[in-house]
This record gives sequence, C-alpha cells and structure tokens, in this order.
Amino acid sequence: MSQTTAAPSTVHEILDSLGIAADNPGAFAAGAWLDTRGPAITSLDPATGEPLARVRSATAEDYERCAAAAQEAFEAWREWTAPARGEVVRQLGDELRRHKDALGRLVSLEMGKILSEGLGEVQEMIDMCDLAVGMSRQLYGLAMHSERPRHRMYEQWHPLGPVGIITAFNFPVAVWAWNAAVAAVAGDSMVWKPSEKTPLCALAVTRIAQRVLEANGAPAVFGLAIGNREHVGKPMAADPRMRLVSATGSVSMGKAVGKVVADRLGRSLLELGGNNGILVMDDADLDLALRAVLFAAVGTAGQRCTTTRRLLLQKGIAARMKEQLVAAYRSVRIGDPLDERTLMGPLVDARAVDDMMAALERAKAEGGKVLYGGGRLERPGFFVEPTLVEATHHMPITCDETFAPILYLFEFETLDEAIALHNAVPQGLSSAIFTRDLRSAERFLAAAGSDCGIANVNIGTSGAEIGGAFGGEKETGGGREAGSDSWKAYMRRQTCTINYGEELPLAQGVSFDV
Ligand code: NAD
Repeated sequence: MSQTTAAPSTVHEILDSLGIAADNPGAFAAGAWLDTRGPAITSLDPATGEPLARVRSATAEDYERCAAAAQEAFEAWREWTAPARGEVVRQLGDELRRHKDALGRLVSLEMGKILSEGLGEVQEMIDMCDLAVGMSRQLYGLAMHSERPRHRMYEQWHPLGPVGIITAFNFPVAVWAWNAAVAAVAGDSMVWKPSEKTPLCALAVTRIAQRVLEANGAPAVFGLAIGNREHVGKPMAADPRMRLVSATGSVSMGKAVGKVVADRLGRSLLELGGNNGILVMDDADLDLALRAVLFAAVGTAGQRCTTTRRLLLQKGIAARMKEQLVAAYRSVRIGDPLDERTLMGPLVDARAVDDMMAALERAKAEGGKVLYGGGRLERPGFFVEPTLVEATHHMPITCDETFAPILYLFEFETLDEAIALHNAVPQGLSSAIFTRDLRSAERFLAAAGSDCGIANVNIGTSGAEIGGAFGGEKETGGGREAGSDSWKAYMRRQTCTINYGEELPLAQGVSFDV
C-alpha cells in the first residue's frame, strides 16, 4: 500500500492525490466502478463558487447493481471471523492515517469547514477504525441459566446483512466511518449514498477503502452509489435487501426514509437534526462558557448537527455574557477554510445562504433583535456573518433548525424555567449546562433534566468523542452510532438453547406427554 502522502496544497494537487479526475463515475460495486449515466453533479468549492469536478450520478439501475453486489459480498464476508474482519478495518485505519492530510484538505475544500476540522474529521474516521478493531473481539452475547435441567441457553450476535448508509453533507467522511467501520467488523456489507453536495469526498474514501479490501483479498463490502433521492435514496429505503438503513440528515429526510423502511418492517437508524441549547448559570465560569459557546455556535459555520443554536442565560450574567459574545463574534476570522488562520469558512452553497437570510427575516418578524451580524459577505463563495439574535421565549422560529451560524439568546431566572425552555423544542440531540454548582449540574443530568441524547457539563454541545453512543431523542430520531454498544444495531441477535440431557422438559412446566 502507498506511503504517507506529502501535503498537497493546490486544488489540483488535492484532487489528484486522491485519484479524482475532472469527470468521474458515481457508483462502485463488486470491486469496479460502474459506467454511470445519471444526471451530472458538479461539485463546487463553497469558498469560491467555482466547480471542482463532475460526477456522473447513479441511476436506479446502477443502484440495483450496487445492492445485488452488496448482497453477494455479504454472503462471503459473513464467513470471515470477526477478528479477521477487524484486521481489515485496522488496515483501513492505517491507510486513512497515510492519507489524512490529503483527505482532510479535500473535506475542507468541498464542504467548507476549516482545515483543522477537516483533519479532525479524518482523525474521527481513524478513531472509529481503532474502536471497531477492538469491537471485533468483543461482540459479546450473554449466557443465561436455563430453567430446564441439562440445558444451556445463550445469546449470540450474527452479521445482519447489507446496510444502506445515507449521509449528510456536513460530515462527508466521518459519518460513513461511524457506520462502515462498525458494520464491517459486524460482518455486513454496505451501499453508501452520500450527499450530492460532497460527492468527491465519497469517491476518495471509497478508493482508499477498496485498496485495503483488495490487499486482503476481501469481498467488496464498501459499495457506493452517488445519486439523487429518486434514483438512489428512495430505492434504497424501500429495498428489503438493506436489512438496516442508517440515515443521517434533516428531520424531514428521516421522516420520509423512516416511513418507507417501517412499511417493509425493516430496521432504521436515524441521526437527524438538532436544536441544541446551552444553559449558563450565574455561578458559571464565564470565560470557559464564552469559549465553549463560540466554538459550538460558530465552528463549522453553524453547520453541525450539534451546533449550539440556543443560549439560555441566567439574568445575573446575561448582560455581561452578551457583551462579551458580541466582542468575540466581531473577532472571528472569516475566510478561506484552507488558510490556517481562518476560524469560520463559508456555508455549503447559495441555498444555505438564502435559507439563513430567510430565517433571519422570520426571526425579526417574530420579535427577535439582531445583536450582531445578520449579513452575507460580498465576496465570491457563500460567506455569511456569524449572527446573534436576542429572542423571546415564544418565537416559533427558535423551534426550527436553521443550518447556519445563528445563535438565539434567551434569559431566565430559575433552573426549572431554563430546563423547561430548553426541552420545549421538537429535537433532542445535544445539550449543556455551565455551572460550578454540583446540584445544578446533577439536576440538568437527572431524569427530569435535559431530554437530549447528549448532556454535558462545562463543555459545549458539539465535538463528541466516538467512545460514547452518539445520537438524540424526539425528532432527532432515536438512533445511536459510534461507541458503547451501538454495534448491536448492525447485527442480529439469536437466542440459542441446547439440550444435553436425555429428557425433553418443556418451559413453564408445560406437560405434553402422549
Ligand atoms: P438532508 O436531509 O438534505 O440530506 C441528507 C441525505 O439524505 C442526503 O444524502 C440526501 O440526498 C438524502 N435524502 C434526502 N431525502 C431523502 C429521501 N426522501 N430518501 C432518501 N434519501 C434522502 O441533510 P443535509 O442538508 O445534507 O445535512 C444537514 C442535516 O443533517 C441537518 O439537519 C443536520 O442536523 C443533520 N445531521 C445530523 C447528524 C446526526 O448525527 N444527528 C449528523 C450530521 C448531520
């Protein structure tokens, strides 16, 4: 396999180092690129609005070939032992280490997140591979005592089948790894439907992953079908071969996909939108809170599912915190995401800018007051100002997720009031409290506290580690990915009972003698 790649710096070098041409096929099945003829997707550099490369997307027939190949690969892969599958994933982690710099740059180039975050995303893939290697030797079942004499009872976990992976644009490579590393050690094959906004990242990852499979003589378990929802997304959701559909994206996408999968009684794992809040109590370390809010609200230009969108300030510190936030927002360096001095890059496309402007108009109409920002930047690319809006408790827009750097500021008097306000949104992904008081912290984490899948103390809402299970409640979809026992979603459970005696006792004392 290849040596560590030198840091490519120009657009051409970045694309070239990862094998991306001006025009690329958009589907990969059974170890080969397909001659796709679907509508062309032009990937744009959000920092300039200039095209990077084209992808000929997959048609429904191409998807069908990917799904059939995934079924075939599954039937071979499930026969490999889990530790042998883990060894392949270990090598995938190593290959990603070799390409971390180039792939991190491609993430920044195509999605627009700053380089440190682009590299961090590839590091998250590597971490997922390392975690999954360990999992490959720990796919534990439980053993129970049987009520019947000379009987043994236990549970075991088997590979599930092909997995359909639908991903969003904002984590164009890490979310694939959350799923793919675990699914691979679990013995599953997969077909990946990435966002049409970041197809080049998907091409690069698939090339890297396939090299590792080939070097190990492994079946082609990492399939790819880049295409729109009609050609790929909907057929995938409806396909009974996809024993699990793991879909990451907006709530509206999750509702559509979840219904179709449920209709065929398939299994879905939904990781959907968030509307994450931070509570800052009067007794908080304000310096810590300020730094955490800034990263969580402005980082990735507000395009993380865990971005802080609502800041709840206790009355005693509200004025001071607002003043300091305005000053901090003023100092955010906006610009080319590949420039290491930049803190905030562009939004992903022109539509995202329009959506942000429309949300701000609505916020103002509902009584919100813009404290800072609110504009688009007059320069090429899709740049906006990070924005602070003073909000009232009853503004409907604050219940929606606008995928942009808008932070709504609220004031409250008591912790009970803040928790009620915090939980009064349809989403339930990530949450945090800043306080020095143990009782406030514990109440926020208690059953009547935050209703989110993630609850932090003195840490912002974004930037989770992979060791824990990641996901959220309510309209966020209830799915859990990455660490802890999330692997169970990718396997099927089997309860086995073995009779090693000469009698045939029945459970519950039932007798059936002739
Ligand atoms: P999106 O919902 O527009 O698209 C996500 C993916 O779903 C894309 O691949 C898209 O083509 C596909 N898709 C859309 N409709 C579909 C359908 N009916 N059938 C099948 N596939 C369909 O989301 P986006 O704009 O790419 O990403 C931003 C959203 O993703 C935000 O809401 C963000 O909060 C969410 N997100 C959630 C998590 C999480 O883990 N909870 C992580 C990242 C992003």
